[in-house]
Amino acid sequence: MLRTIDHFIGGSTFSSGERQGEVFDPNQGQVQAHVRLGSASDLQKAVDAAKAAQPAWAATNPQKRARVMFKFKELVEANMDELAHLLSSEHGKVIADAKGDVQRGLEVIEFACGIPQSLKGEYTVGAGPGIDVYSMRQPLGIGAGITPFNFPAMIPMWMFGMAIACGNAFIVKPSERDPSVPNRLAELMTEAGLPDGVLNVVHGDKEMVDAILDHPDIAAVSFVGSSDIAQYIYSRGTANGKRVQAFGGAKNHGIVMPDADLDQVVNDLAGAAFGSAGERCMALPVVVPVGDDTADALREKLIPAIEGLRVGVSTDPDAHYGPVVSQAHKERIEHYIQMGIDEGAELVVDGRGFKLQGHEEGFFIGPTLFDHVKPEMKSYQDEIFGPVLQMVRARDFEDALRLPSQHEYGNGVAIFTRNGHAAREFTARVNVGMVGINVPIPVPVSYHSFGGWKRSGFGDIGQYGMEGLRFWTKNKVVTQRWPDGGAHGESAFIIPTMG
Ligand code: NAD
Repeated sequence: MLRTIDHFIGGSTFSSGERQGEVFDPNQGQVQAHVRLGSASDLQKAVDAAKAAQPAWAATNPQKRARVMFKFKELVEANMDELAHLLSSEHGKVIADAKGDVQRGLEVIEFACGIPQSLKGEYTVGAGPGIDVYSMRQPLGIGAGITPFNFPAMIPMWMFGMAIACGNAFIVKPSERDPSVPNRLAELMTEAGLPDGVLNVVHGDKEMVDAILDHPDIAAVSFVGSSDIAQYIYSRGTANGKRVQAFGGAKNHGIVMPDADLDQVVNDLAGAAFGSAGERCMALPVVVPVGDDTADALREKLIPAIEGLRVGVSTDPDAHYGPVVSQAHKERIEHYIQMGIDEGAELVVDGRGFKLQGHEEGFFIGPTLFDHVKPEMKSYQDEIFGPVLQMVRARDFEDALRLPSQHEYGNGVAIFTRNGHAAREFTARVNVGMVGINVPIPVPVSYHSFGGWKRSGFGDIGQYGMEGLRFWTKNKVVTQRWPDGGAHGESAFIIPTMG
């Protein structure tokens, strides 16, 4: 009998409905559990719970809300091994990387622990005669998060950590491919003292997502996933009057200048292109060496490094990366490898046909390297989201700068150089949201904010940090005067000025 993953509503599990999805063990290629695929009536139950809990939670002073976050952090740390194993068993990323997934989410919880400080408003005393002006940030009410499969711990925590600390109630709709960890996180939030109904998890697919986008009591939606869905979420959510931020796919470039330390670049690229089987929105799947000499030298060093990567089951402590998430995704990646060949790129290392003994049905793909990839190729333009590194040779700095700037995605980019001037010039001019200088995966720390540009991000405000705080609150500005009792002055028919 396989386990069924239920919704988590009002502080406990909730099961209803016949529709279910399959959750795989990507190491074995077999179904290991079923997940409820909920409907609008399941969502209504979560909204009812959230609505009942939110006013009291918003009225709880920020210091007490922060204490729940502190306790939650403690509990997640105490349960780190269990969470990482659960995550890895459904996603396929190796245990150490699964711990990183949890840890990067926890760092946003750490920021949320400081909510009394960061939520303080602004005050101007004496903005006019006897007049003070102050602002306060108030919660929106009920927020929702729709999250992708590739960071099943971090991304829900980015969203609910900030939203809940700000005084909102929250509903998470995780990816149906690895739905268990968000449930476990919600249980730990309850154990940390969060009142029932403040955090709910509903499972499902498009039907549930559409119910969220159309629900009049959900004030804001945060989405992370692929770009076409992000655009759909943004359009439908905003058409329904909601505040929406929607982050999409990526195709991040690593520019390698002729003066870069190539051994360091090879180390960085191996981790950033192949870690988590390339299933990261901040992976580095395109390398752009500047000049043929740089390209040839880099290629020579990259080939043995790539051939030396160890692909294994996600619990193998020596594996660099594990299987991809599903059979369909494996086939999609292999399709793109074939497309690259057909388009005329040079396949240098071929990861297709990789089989792991004893795990022949697992969703494994070996590391793959292409050289002489050209910007007009579809395999370059599309996000592959697998262990495939594409080398696009640039003539010079300007040529290298143009590639990420003109690509339809604009999530992250990195430049490897010893030249501060080149790095500074690149950073100022590149048309991409997050830049690394000799840092391959420039995911901003939790007290800055995350957000890609172009088709990597719809909406105008980032995840977590102060941008997250602004997303999950609305600003109220108060202009106050306390007259001394007598009536003064005359009615004014012109707009008040402080002059
Ligand atoms: P996805 O777009 O398939 O799914 C994301 C969410 O949308 C899931 O919860 C899913 O249930 C829902 N969804 C799927 N199809 C839908 C539809 N037709 N209508 C409504 N909802 C739908 O993405 P994924 O495969 O889970 O995740 C990988 C993608 O996410 C990649 O493109 C990756 O680059 C991107 N990603 C982006 C960031 C970022 O911050 N920019 C971070 C992580 C992942």
